[in-house]
Amino acid sequence: MSENLASRLRDVSSAVAAAAADADRDASEITTIVVTKFHPAALVAELADLGVRDVGENRHQEAQAKAAELSGLGLSWHFIGQLQSKKARQVRAYASSIHSIDRPALVDALRSDDDVIDGFVQVNLTDDAGRGGVLPAELDALVEKVLETPGIRLRGLMAVAPLDGEPRRAFARVRELSESVRRTAPEASALSMGMSQDFREAIFEGATHLRIGTLITGNRPTPGLTSN
Ligand SMILES: *Cc1c(COP(=O)(O)O)cnc(C)c1O
Repeated sequence: MSENLASRLRDVSSAVAAAAADADRDASEITTIVVTKFHPAALVAELADLGVRDVGENRHQEAQAKAAELSGLGLSWHFIGQLQSKKARQVRAYASSIHSIDRPALVDALRSDDDVIDGFVQVNLTDDAGRGGVLPAELDALVEKVLETPGIRLRGLMAVAPLDGEPRRAFARVRELSESVRRTAPEASALSMGMSQDFREAIFEGATHLRIGTLITGNRPTPGLTSN
């Protein structure tokens, strides 16, 4: 089990390095976040043993429990799922960054005068407004709101490629949107995009934060019945 985990982690790390080289990029500017949702804390601990520092979770209760159990391991917890405003403060308490900022009410809920969390604004690349992320037409206004809200350091944009499209085109669109965001927020140059099936395309379009689950962890156990 852990040998498999170690070898999958090594394989992904080599594949990321190879894609970066093909894209003429420096692999050191790309962070791989291992998405550990639905997996037990023991697996996250194994990953930490193997040198992983960045892990991603998409459900608050589960993430909070694992972060508490593994608090001694020096992990950075990235929150990547849809987030209810009333849970925002609690997520701030253990997460180093939130990749799923998608609406003004959540930005208000994340406001803090005490400390600063890294934030990514998630862009919805589908025609379905019910999916996670802000529609491109509303992106500039949301970015502006994040920039004027204390307690969030805007790192850049996050997106998931739609299932029915060409991932590279989707990521190219995010890159274009990012160029426009950087006219008002030059520091917000990070791009959280690329998963197990499409990280190579994402790297070609400038991804700085990959969110890779199954390719490293193996298949996810069936999710429990508890929700956020
Ligand atoms: C689950 C998840 C991932 C990882 O997906 P894999 O296909 O397992 O690599 C990445 N990003 C988000 C937002 C997710 O929910």
